[in-house]
Amino acid sequence: MTLRNTIDFLLHDWLDTTALTQRARFADHSRDTFDAVLDTCERIAREKYAPFNRLVDVQEPYFDGEKVILPQATHDAHKAYAESGMLSAAQDYEMGGMQLPYSVEASANAFFACASVSIGSGMLTTGNANLLMTHGTALQKEVFAKNEFSGRWSGTMCLSEPQAGSSLSDVVTRAVPDGDNFADDPLGPRYRLKGNKMWISSGEHELSENIIHLVLAKIPDSEGKLVPGTRGISLFIVPKKLVNTQGELTGVRNDVALAGLNHKLGWRGTTNTLLNFGEGKFPVGQSGPYGGGAGAVGYLVGQPGKGLACMFHMMNEARIGVGIAATMLGMAGYYASLDYAKTRPQGRPMGAAGKDPAQPQTRIIEHADVKRMLLAQKSYAEGALALELYCARLVDEHHTAGGQEADDARLLLEVLTPIAKSWPSEWCLEANSLAIQVHGGYGYTRDFPVEQYWRDNRLNMIHEGTHGIQAMDLLGRKVLMEDGKGLQLLSHRMMATVHRSSGIPALAAHAKALGKALQDVGAATKGAWATGNPTDALANAVPYLQAFGHTVLAWIWLDVAGCALDNDPQQTRADTQGRVGAARFFFHYELPKIGAWLSVVQSRDSTCSTFPEEAF
Ligand SMILES: Cc1cc2nc3c(=O)[nH]c(=O)nc-3n(C[C@H](O)[C@H](O)[C@H](O)COP(=O)(O)OP(=O)(O)OC[C@H]3O[C@@H](n4cnc5c(N)ncnc54)[C@H](O)[C@@H]3O)c2cc1C
Repeated sequence: MTLRNTIDFLLHDWLDTTALTQRARFADHSRDTFDAVLDTCERIAREKYAPFNRLVDVQEPYFDGEKVILPQATHDAHKAYAESGMLSAAQDYEMGGMQLPYSVEASANAFFACASVSIGSGMLTTGNANLLMTHGTALQKEVFAKNEFSGRWSGTMCLSEPQAGSSLSDVVTRAVPDGDNFADDPLGPRYRLKGNKMWISSGEHELSENIIHLVLAKIPDSEGKLVPGTRGISLFIVPKKLVNTQGELTGVRNDVALAGLNHKLGWRGTTNTLLNFGEGKFPVGQSGPYGGGAGAVGYLVGQPGKGLACMFHMMNEARIGVGIAATMLGMAGYYASLDYAKTRPQGRPMGAAGKDPAQPQTRIIEHADVKRMLLAQKSYAEGALALELYCARLVDEHHTAGGQEADDARLLLEVLTPIAKSWPSEWCLEANSLAIQVHGGYGYTRDFPVEQYWRDNRLNMIHEGTHGIQAMDLLGRKVLMEDGKGLQLLSHRMMATVHRSSGIPALAAHAKALGKALQDVGAATKGAWATGNPTDALANAVPYLQAFGHTVLAWIWLDVAGCALDNDPQQTRADTQGRVGAARFFFHYELPKIGAWLSVVQSRDSTCSTFPEEAF
């Protein structure tokens, strides 16, 4: 099955995305316009991304003392992407957008991630501009967001610092008012920033005319002290080059300097930077609060002290974006190893009388164990894609359904987002490992693409909230919030699928297994919180995330298989056999794993939490 077939099935047969065209916001769209967007993106990804995936891995970005140099192919890909209109796909027509549903936008972006995740498709730029559309002033939208959507400028997210990664409350970048008239700047209250931001993706390059950094920093109190905790964090627009209210460059370079490029395991086509803000390398004006014009000029977004809340506003989509990237790397490895397995002759079948060396060798796809590895990849990657598109559809419901449906979508997204980010990050990475295994020794070389997929994918459990942080968010917050209503809502949806599938012979046993898994997750959630002590409950948050994730994926597969069987009850088509077979694999080989994970959660096993440091 091609990626396009899979996406078409999920978007239209399963999620009925075309029904969205009945809503006012999407009324100009149709199945044809959705298809046209997918066609264009599939073509650009094929022509401008896929052929250069290895090249951007080996020609890492480098700093020539003045500029960061990237391969020409990266420039060409970015240009083609911006020209396709995808940066502003979901925006209003007045902003130059297409008013496309997020589920279609996310599907279209999947082609780029599959072709070359690290060339990048502007996810940060779109996320940055989307944030400004929600929290910025009219002029901030017009000057900054609009120029990002057009591709003229690009965007970053500057949260992390060398000493503050998972714990953002500990950021120490400071922002002080820039002069007595700081509040009167039309671009927003003007501050000067000083501090270091670590790991900033796309923090320096020549792909666009300007780079718009969104920076978290703290405004000191009247005694010059930084307010502890997240309450003290504010958000600022810090352009690399200063601009006027018309969106024109003023010719003044802002005080943001590249301290160095990080040399990464994978995802090498995207620059990753340590940035120094306000160290005085590019002084702005004669004087600045830090002396001699030092201090990066930044414009406040939203209210002081509400910076993290602004950032979190866009986290659902950013995390679905990470989930899709991880999924597509899993998918790319699956396709590569499937092709390889179909052509690699090795070994002979074991008959009742043993092997017959006179017979020609079989292709490795004929070995049951190789089929196991391919089916695992298929169930992880296609299952993850279905989950991501389901979540993307919830984003559309949340934005456009109105009333109870919109609120239900919001709550479901709260609970599902940690899974949408983390499950593909872990299991599609495992898929990449299996893709290497299918290739044998060849998979371990750079002559085949699968080792790069694994290296690229290894990032996804680390950024946008590490695996451990996502797990604590799920068990410590999401399943408890609003009196557990999100979890109840999810359970109802799962049980609806269980009931629907119980009457379908090919799925009845799976339905029963899912009902039992759901009960077990519920019991483990209660067990984890039985003492009410977060230390006890959260000690095994990652096994909980794994079990919860596997249960969600089992549900997704059951629902997808049910839809496939509705269309083709006799399973006459290979795609139906593929979906029903992958669901069967997931229920027989994967779902039973949750027993071990939930057992330590439910009993609040303290093996890890109480292990003495000296005993390591
Ligand atoms: C390639 C790359 C690109 C990135 N891009 C960006 C970007 O564009 N913008 C940006 O702002 N950041 C970016 N990041 C930063 C990324 O978000 C951080 O690396 C991540 O948040 C983890 O922070 P850290 O590296 O400081 O690790 P730490 O926070 O030190 O974590 C180390 C380990 O300890 C665990 N841990 C930490 N705290 C706890 C806790 N309370 N309980 C249990 N376990 C805990 C973590 O789960 C992790 O396993 C990027 C990182 C990389 C590698």
